[in-house]
Amino acid sequence: MNPFLDLGIRHEVVNAITEMGFETPSPIQEKAIPVLLTGNDDFVGLAQTGTGKTAAFGLPLLELIDFTQKHPQALVLCPTRELCLQIAKDLEKYAKYIDNVHVVAVYGGANISDQLRQIRRGVQIVVATPGRMLDIIGRNAIDFSNVKYVVLDEADEMLNMGFQEDINNILSETPDTKKTWLFSATMPKEVRRIAQNYMTNPHELTVGTKNTGNANIEHHYYVVKARDKYAAFKRIVDFYPEIFGIVFCRTKIETQEIAEALVRDGYNADSLHGDLSQQQRDKVMKRYRDRSLQLLIATDVAARGIDVNDVTHVINFSLPDEVENYTHRSGRTARAGKTGVSLSLINGKELGKIRRIEKIIGKSFEKKLVPQASEVVEKQLLAMTEKIRNVDINEERIEPYLPSIMESMQDLSKEDIIKRFASLEFTRFLDYYQNAPDLNVDARERDSDRGERGERRDRGSRTASNGYTRLFINLGSVDEFSRGDMLGLICDAANISGKSVGKIDMKGVFTFFEVQDAEVKKVFDGFQGTEYNGRAVRVEVSGDENGGGRSRGGDGGRRRERKGGSGGSFRGDRRDSGGFRGERSGERAGRRQTSRSRY
Ligand code: AMP
Repeated sequence: MNPFLDLGIRHEVVNAITEMGFETPSPIQEKAIPVLLTGNDDFVGLAQTGTGKTAAFGLPLLELIDFTQKHPQALVLCPTRELCLQIAKDLEKYAKYIDNVHVVAVYGGANISDQLRQIRRGVQIVVATPGRMLDIIGRNAIDFSNVKYVVLDEADEMLNMGFQEDINNILSETPDTKKTWLFSATMPKEVRRIAQNYMTNPHELTVGTKNTGNANIEHHYYVVKARDKYAAFKRIVDFYPEIFGIVFCRTKIETQEIAEALVRDGYNADSLHGDLSQQQRDKVMKRYRDRSLQLLIATDVAARGIDVNDVTHVINFSLPDEVENYTHRSGRTARAGKTGVSLSLINGKELGKIRRIEKIIGKSFEKKLVPQASEVVEKQLLAMTEKIRNVDINEERIEPYLPSIMESMQDLSKEDIIKRFASLEFTRFLDYYQNAPDLNVDARERDSDRGERGERRDRGSRTASNGYTRLFINLGSVDEFSRGDMLGLICDAANISGKSVGKIDMKGVFTFFEVQDAEVKKVFDGFQGTEYNGRAVRVEVSGDENGGGRSRGGDGGRRRERKGGSGGSFRGDRRDSGGFRGERSGERAGRRQTSRSRY
């Protein structure tokens, strides 16, 4: 038996919500529906957005309202136009198979006459934002004398937005006998006061712990210098190729500046702030919902009521002035039982704020380090190869072009083609990230000074501890090197003993390895101007801001050939031997792509 039927929801509604993908009730629905269905109690539900609140009060309303009558019996008040439209739409969807259900959405910024006309035609459920509702009441255009249920949704948000008095005035228009159902993500004393003033012995329910954030949200922070903030932000975004995020800023100006910079840098981003007309706002939101935008840059106020599912990341480009707002921000991700990350870019002085937020949400933040350039490149490359692997092929459409494509590629091996496809993106990223510095504030000092918690990193630093330097080489496991092969290659090229080489950390397309400080020059010299399978070999100090691996002179024209893991050939021609084959990083930098790319 369908669990919603068990809860007391009628077949018609269960059929409609099954079509919407509701199979089992969410925790708030499971707990609230039986209580609300009695229609006898006032109710306070502490629940975050995205937990299924709308159905928790919406489904009972559909059972309790008499749809043969055409006067308002339920009023739902909510803070924003977006939420208002969403709730009205959801209620209509749940009621798809019930006859004569009339729901009206009443909100500011839209033509009032249409709304008045709908009210005149007869409605049972009014979903409204407080300002417009009062306007309509002021025109004597609605009769609330038969209202039996008032829902205050996102009560804390409504109070934050200064609707306290409007709510009082609206409630005074409704009969004393009505039942009030209040939902709120947090329970500040102002909300508590509403419960005390307007409710009698309300039934209280909490989903999750009081005042805590959604358990499915991870909270991360990154400590960066103010001047590196934008670069660090971009790097984090690049590290998550599938990101679908909302970026919070403190001011309108900041949202605009960041959105403009991102667009200039080739990202799909736009800003949402108070200066936009309703039409512009709707347009931005539509693009975001349709996923034509990958990043939505917003202020706290503008983002209120945004309820887009599947937001993977909330990014606090700036922490909110009011720490309480953090809960609202982070609640935009991890909706409907999904997981999400809320990350914050802070400077060292803002750690205190993080600690205060931790107290409010009852959860610890994890300290993260801004990814190194090489990590971002690898992540992007792997994402791209995954995309190529999973692409939908329209056989019919591509068919006519295949012969000429095949012909133009016929002299290339499968390996060559793969490399070329990968290089299309790879070169772009590598160019951008070439010489990109480590953007983490050197946290070690502060860690010990201020007792800051968090992980430490021994990689990515210019010099590894204990007399070793950590180097990067652009050969890795995709070249089918084992660690032993790599050790052999390094020793052979640099003419050093295996004892001089420390940890070898093989990655997909590159490898980090440690070499005794005294031998570093030999490694650079040894690999200078060399090739592996026709690819220039590049060695850099890991995290080197000046781009390591530059040629540092040679010691004569040795030429070596060596088998790599895959049987590829390693070629060591020196420039001064007259047989230089590899591209130097410096030369490559001079040939950056000219077309507008993501960078
Ligand atoms: P809400 O908190 O009401 O905004 O709901 C968040 C999202 O979860 C919406 O997209 C709902 O359609 C979805 N949802 C709510 N209840 C359920 C359920 N029982 N099963 C699956 N999805 C649900």
